Amino acid sequence: MIGFGETTVRCSAAGCTASAEWRVNWRNPRIHTADRVKVWLACEGHRDQLTGYLASRGFPVVITPVDVVAESVPDPA
Ligand SMILES: [Zn+2]
Repeated sequence: MIGFGETTVRCSAAGCTASAEWRVNWRNPRIHTADRVKVWLACEGHRDQLTGYLASRGFPVVITPVDVVAESVPDPA
């Protein structure tokens, strides 16, 4: 799913070929248990767009630098 073996890690936004700077870690509380973490990768320009899309659907989101793995995505406070 995520090509860390490749030289460039690409942004997950549709049509974007920029290299990813951020991991957008998220979870759908209706179908994922608390220890499940889905990951989108985002360039600087798409980070807020991807985060906003998930937040608008009520999904908890944790942003980390692209080389930092989030072990869980807690429910919003
Ligand atoms: Zn992008």
